[in-house]
Amino acid sequence: MPFLTKKLDNRSMDVRTPSAAGAESALLWESDGYRPSRGLEGGVEVPGFGQSIPRRLCGSDECMSTWTVPWRNRRRPTFEGQWGCSGRCVLAMVRAAMSRELGEGEAGMAAAPHRHRVPLGLVLLAQGWITHPQLRHALESQRVNGRGRIGDWLVAECGLEAEQITRGLSLQWSCPVLSVRGFVPEAMALVMPRVFVEEFGLLPLRVVGLRILYMGLEDRLDASAALAMEQMAQLKVESGLLDSAQFREARRQLLQCDAVETKMETAVSTTALAARVTAILEQKQPVASRLVRLHQYYWLRIWLESGATGKSGTLPKNGEDVQDYVFSIGGRA
Ligand SMILES: [Zn+2]
Repeated sequence: MPFLTKKLDNRSMDVRTPSAAGAESALLWESDGYRPSRGLEGGVEVPGFGQSIPRRLCGSDECMSTWTVPWRNRRRPTFEGQWGCSGRCVLAMVRAAMSRELGEGEAGMAAAPHRHRVPLGLVLLAQGWITHPQLRHALESQRVNGRGRIGDWLVAECGLEAEQITRGLSLQWSCPVLSVRGFVPEAMALVMPRVFVEEFGLLPLRVVGLRILYMGLEDRLDASAALAMEQMAQLKVESGLLDSAQFREARRQLLQCDAVETKMETAVSTTALAARVTAILEQKQPVASRLVRLHQYYWLRIWLESGATGKSGTLPKNGEDVQDYVFSIGGRA
């Protein structure tokens, strides 16, 4: 048995170039059943699926190593479905993921500029649910008091039902009104770090058919958060609005449940962040990990054992052997 295993047997060392090695790694990955980390169509990534791969190659495009060491564990650390052969390669993979996350935000904004939305009052007028005098009265109350949403004033001063406001908002945002049916706070508390529930008003509601995660919001959608959640959970995310009272009660219940252990950290720059993420991966040696950007935060989730996920995408089974890190860049904590 050879002491060192040659990575690619069909080539001799002297013709090997980094770019050729990269191309061949990609081909080999494909035959190994590699699935692109971004796409959902390839099904879910099961942390630890690398166990069945007899010889795993490094996932870094910049990997220069042509020999792999047989005693090095090729399951850990795994980042976004790929194993890194060395700290340097893990760092390259993390950096690539970070620039992807940055680019995606910009591309997303360019592709979908802030769409003009019909004001809620006009939506309600068009539906015939309020009159012009009612709308004028509500707007005046909002102006005089200098606070409150127009919908709240319509409910408080003009006798509208809260349910009509939610219906109006769903027309304004072209999205469904969701219900809290099937909401299990203990399970949903594990979906995302608490800070996203508190700060962005995201409320994971339920998973349907093991592949769709329903996410409820109170008065507006959040497309970029939904995208980040899709990538992290490897589930399709359907967003919709909830009636305010239902939303607040469900959120209260969720926030009382145990979440995945979360560490909040601040990095001085994206370069420092990449180094920090790499250090965590090297230290914790997770069987799976992912990094997504959610507004100003970078969210790293690591799965320490292959049994840490349940049946739905990569969602944690019970919070054991999963850890979250939420990073912000610069002075914000
Ligand atoms: Zn490598």
